[in-house]
Amino acid sequence: MLFRSDFVANVSHELRTPVAVIKGYGETLLDGALDESAERSRRFVEIMVSHAERLTNLINDILTLSKLEAKDASLALHPLDLCGTIRKAQMLMEDHARSKGIRIAIHCPDGMPRVLADQGQLEQVLLNLLDNAIKYTPDGGDVSICVEPSQGRLQISVSDTGIGIPSKDLPRIFERFYRVDEGRSREQGGTGLGLSIVKHIVQLHGGEISVTSEAGKGSVFTVTLPEA
Ligand code: ADP
Repeated sequence: MLFRSDFVANVSHELRTPVAVIKGYGETLLDGALDESAERSRRFVEIMVSHAERLTNLINDILTLSKLEAKDASLALHPLDLCGTIRKAQMLMEDHARSKGIRIAIHCPDGMPRVLADQGQLEQVLLNLLDNAIKYTPDGGDVSICVEPSQGRLQISVSDTGIGIPSKDLPRIFERFYRVDEGRSREQGGTGLGLSIVKHIVQLHGGEISVTSEAGKGSVFTVTLPEA
């Protein structure tokens, strides 16, 4: 119960910021900026749009979490071709990666056993991890995904050569709304919910997630999922 009301308080706080920004710039425009300078007005509208995008991301992530938490949340588990699903996620993230000169490499050996997973949820896990790897890696860096079998399970590692995570923050990054650098996350359209969604989905599959990272060098997120 306490946890629930904490969550509502956090959500309200997170929603308030973009709404306040949109309202503030809207009022400034109406108060005269609109008539004074087209260039300035345009800049203000761009800021309003970027905060509206952040609001949309927040609302989508909150809906995703609430669906995952619903008592009747059920997964449509099927034997899936993991490498095919990874290639699809890579394709979806290609534009984002290319815009930063980042290459996404896939290491997925032939003849891999199938994974027992929900296709849509597995895609969400891969997209969130890839999105973070790209967001928190400076231009020209490398992102890779490796798959290997490990004791009746499949291990997926998403690695990047990015800014890394200080060791003091590592134990907390799967918590809702926890960010190492709030400003940086916001700038990138982050909600602070991506990793808690990933962890939730992985646990619903009976899998595990862990992370190793070194500030300034990069991060590796490792997910294990059951074989079909
Ligand atoms: P956000 O929307 O802020 O990215 P997440 O829940 O996805 O939220 O991640 C929580 C925090 O963990 C991020 O704000 C960032 O500080 C850190 N983080 C996640 N992935 C990475 C990564 N690949 N490299 C560096 N930091 C990361």
